[in-house]
Amino acid sequence: AAPLIEAEGLTRVYEMRRGLFGKVTPVRAVDGVSLKVLPGESLGIVGESGSGKSTLGRMLLGIDPAQAGTVTFEGEPMPAFGTVEWRALRAKMQLVYQDPLAALDRRLTIAAQIREPLDIHNVLASEERTARVEALMTAVGLRSDQADRYPHELSGGQRQRAVIARALAARPKLIVCDEPVSALDVSIQAQVVNMLRDLQEDNGIAMVFISHDLKVVRNIADRVAVMYLGRIVEEASSDVIFASPRHPYTQALVSSVPVPGQPLKGRMILQGEPPNPASRPSGCAFHPRCPLATALCRNVVPELRTLGDGRTAACHLVEGANAPIAA
Ligand code: SF4
Ligand code: MG
Repeated sequence: AAPLIEAEGLTRVYEMRRGLFGKVTPVRAVDGVSLKVLPGESLGIVGESGSGKSTLGRMLLGIDPAQAGTVTFEGEPMPAFGTVEWRALRAKMQLVYQDPLAALDRRLTIAAQIREPLDIHNVLASEERTARVEALMTAVGLRSDQADRYPHELSGGQRQRAVIARALAARPKLIVCDEPVSALDVSIQAQVVNMLRDLQEDNGIAMVFISHDLKVVRNIADRVAVMYLGRIVEEASSDVIFASPRHPYTQALVSSVPVPGQPLKGRMILQGEPPNPASRPSGCAFHPRCPLATALCRNVVPELRTLGDGRTAACHLVEGANAPIAA
């Protein structure tokens, strides 16, 4: 199948001043990222804070501009942010982010917010829109008596359910979810993730699911891309990533995810500082934290290469598909 959305060499650099009178340094938040998402597919993007994953998500939707690289949606170049063409595409691509209160209008009832995209994009005859709003509320697990409530009258989980109903209202083809459950109570995170997965699958929506938490991504992604300091360092199907991670960073992330019914195997603890986009280490950006780093790693940037098993990885020690790199 042709990809629904495709990014090629996406790069975003912004300038950061260190302190009030400090030097202005260019920060490469996203650095040459290429990826594809097929119709109906779910791609997880995982990385620590500072890895550039939120910026990448916004760039995929054309919200943040790229200094270099391209985004193609349904075979056409992404129109510039805010143009008539871009706004017309908004019905097809939606963003759900961490804070539902910021995404909702406090002066509108829940039903009115969910209905808004139907009115804006002129979806369905106006007399059918009320029934669609009711169906959406049921689909996300909101009760009909919550239709006339305002955002502050709902819990955080209920608000995020309303945001998701609103995002799905105009039947998008792509939904980008950026840490959609991170602000919610741990006890309801799984419920909301499972609901999202069901809605995404049942409606054939492509999804980009961004999270710092590999555990969460495991339940929702067909494929996983691992980011470190603005670059994808490993990408493979979700099964492959969890069963046999090859990049040492992915190995460390996977080693900290418990598998139900199995004792936690040797956990790799990451040494050193978390990634800071304003001071990128030389060579492999992960080398200060990598237990396997060599002189080569400190000097030469590893290319992202496709391995025999279809995965891509950027690490000097990952050669063929069968060479184990860490005991
Ligand atoms: Fe570690 Fe070197 Fe591979 Fe980077 S290239 S992940 S430093 S072994
Ligand atoms: Mg973020």
